[in-house]
Amino acid sequence: MASQVEEFGLFIDGKWGTPTGAKRFETINPATREPIASFVAATVADVDRAVAAAQAAFPAWRSTPAPKRGDLLLTAARLLKERKAQVGRIVTREMGKVIGEGLGDVQESIDFIEYMAGEGRRMFGETVPSELRRKFCLTVRQPKGVIACITPWNFPTAIPNWKIAAALISGNTVVLKPASNTALCAREVIRVYEEAGVPPGVLNFVTGSGAVIGKALVEDPRVRAVSFTGGVDAGRDVYVRGAQGLKMVHLELGGKNPVILMEDADLPLALEGVLFGAFGTSGQRCTATSRLILHEKVYDEFLGMLTDRLDRFTVGDPLDPKTGMGPVASADQEKKILEYIEVGKKEAKLHRGGEKLTGGVYDRGYFLAPTIFETQHGTRISQEEIFGPVLSVIRVKDYDDGVRVANDVAYGLSSSIYTRDVNRAFRAIEDLEAGITYINAPTIGAEVQLPFGGVKNTGNGGREAGTAAIEEFTEVKTVFVDFSAKLQKAQIDAE
Ligand code: NAP
Repeated sequence: MASQVEEFGLFIDGKWGTPTGAKRFETINPATREPIASFVAATVADVDRAVAAAQAAFPAWRSTPAPKRGDLLLTAARLLKERKAQVGRIVTREMGKVIGEGLGDVQESIDFIEYMAGEGRRMFGETVPSELRRKFCLTVRQPKGVIACITPWNFPTAIPNWKIAAALISGNTVVLKPASNTALCAREVIRVYEEAGVPPGVLNFVTGSGAVIGKALVEDPRVRAVSFTGGVDAGRDVYVRGAQGLKMVHLELGGKNPVILMEDADLPLALEGVLFGAFGTSGQRCTATSRLILHEKVYDEFLGMLTDRLDRFTVGDPLDPKTGMGPVASADQEKKILEYIEVGKKEAKLHRGGEKLTGGVYDRGYFLAPTIFETQHGTRISQEEIFGPVLSVIRVKDYDDGVRVANDVAYGLSSSIYTRDVNRAFRAIEDLEAGITYINAPTIGAEVQLPFGGVKNTGNGGREAGTAAIEEFTEVKTVFVDFSAKLQKAQIDAE
């Protein structure tokens, strides 16, 4: 049967096209289960063509002055600004986050592209003194080559842009493989670079199964680096395969992010933060607040406040600006989260929610109730990434207990403490094992000019965004300029 939705091809070497005999898949609106768009299930042969195009385009792109590359990024940012409302709506329709967050996703993209455009006029190296006379030492940054960017669905325009803009400004060429269920959002991203005039082959777009074409991209010997954001299982697979080719693999993986709420906290402020952190984007942010570590002295009071506030929290149509939380992103997501809720019901006390919502609009999509469990530290729901609107509340007796619980998980992406005690806030900055710590703010809310990433199973040490992104996508070359007109031997020629 012919597809009822618009069909899109692959973008390889500056041209959109559908390979002969290509199989297709559709993306689905999680609020209505309606198909949105149809994409090519690319093959290993398509990946081969995309990488070949990226490799062929690399010499000319790397020699384009970085400020000129920046000009292209500024044009892309302007185009995205002009169509922010339209693309934000696509984000909400395809991924399910509420419209304010859909627009926020696009705004983050715009901010990041503009920030990276400026890097075209910075991209600083160092000058370093030499131990010898008449010798000048410096470092310069150079591109790596063809970069494979593999992205998840939860920030379906922002994460592709975090990778594309940073890779391109650094002089690399790119093959993007977006998450299959948000391919239209990624296609909108590619369109703005295309319309901004990206040269053929510099940016390529292949859609299809991560297990097939993601794997092929990672293993292709012409791909010099892989920038991957997604879950731990896929991330580990990508890391191992990339290691075989001795390539740089940058991983941004999951989280189990805690808010520690102390007895002296501003409770109304913390209430809004916990709510937004736990249930914003239906809990499907890598930085979502999935654990509330609550001081025993305010335990009952705060839990009561949370319950009252949730009574006024609306779940429903994500395109309605009054809605607090939309659906979860897919049938797979719904299934996985409901399985965790069943685990929680066995090992913890269900405080609130814990079900699939039914009736009216709920019957058409993947809507779950915001869920709160009261649990002991160490249960599965308090340790494993659920990636849904499920908050585990854990009672602690003091700050040290809170930090012990916060740190005793496999992940270390974001963290937060609510306290009015400045000494305790600074101790938390030292003590929390995480790439990000917020003081008196929720665990979510990255800004593009600051590094982003985590410790432990959240990644392998790199950071995205900020100037750290340039480090991810460049090689450092060390340069020695000897203007003494004689052979000078470091470590050997003594004064
Ligand atoms: P995922 O299942 O790991 O998929 C991520 C991407 O990898 C998708 O494009 C996927 O393709 C592809 N893929 C899957 N298996 C692969 C393989 N073996 N080789 C190469 N590529 C492969 O993750 P997700 O469900 O999309 O996203 C949720 C996860 O992302 C959560 O764990 C979340 O915490 C994490 N995340 C982390 C950050 C961060 O910055 N730390 C930010 C956002 C999300 P298909 O779509 O075709 O399967």
